[in-house]
Amino acid sequence: MKIERLLAKFDIKGINYEALQGGKASLSLEEQLAIVGITWKESPVGFHLLFVEYLSDRESARVLYQLTRVETQKSMDRWRGVYAPKAIEALCLTAMAEVIQQKGQICPECNGSTKVTNRYRVTRKCQCCHEGRITWTSETRFALFSQTLPITYSRFKRYQPVLSLLVEWLTGHKVVAVLALKSRVEMEEKEA
Ligand SMILES: [Zn+2]
Repeated sequence: MKIERLLAKFDIKGINYEALQGGKASLSLEEQLAIVGITWKESPVGFHLLFVEYLSDRESARVLYQLTRVETQKSMDRWRGVYAPKAIEALCLTAMAEVIQQKGQICPECNGSTKVTNRYRVTRKCQCCHEGRITWTSETRFALFSQTLPITYSRFKRYQPVLSLLVEWLTGHKVVAVLALKSRVEMEEKEA
């Protein structure tokens, strides 16, 4: 089952539970809260991730950034030597982008359409991407990281292990949230 459909089933709009009151869901507000409450506790980080990815929820993006920042700070406590405070921000944003857009960022040359038109107005397959996405490599991670903290590639490589840890951490939470949603839907379907 697609995640979009799972989320639509619960009629969740970010963490703003008040928003549920206006909805015309078949379940009562209390029932909805109970459902969300139970699964929510399993992985707030994972749920915020899903809300950003599938619902483009701004509030979730803000909270997710804060939670990721705390985790980044923890990882950087073991860092030997000096680092720029902006490195924390760069790490957070790069890790979040990778987990939210797992297949890669939308190709800016074809806008994700996989097709480009040349100067003779002939349509060609876009040569810059894979299925409209710029897949994640050390290079593309570095490119994104550098937008916040412009450093050399060799310096970036020192940050890379921390970045990998953060991506793992976020991905783990996402998996937990997806599984929690799926099992909840399955239970509902059995009862129905
Ligand atoms: Zn492209």
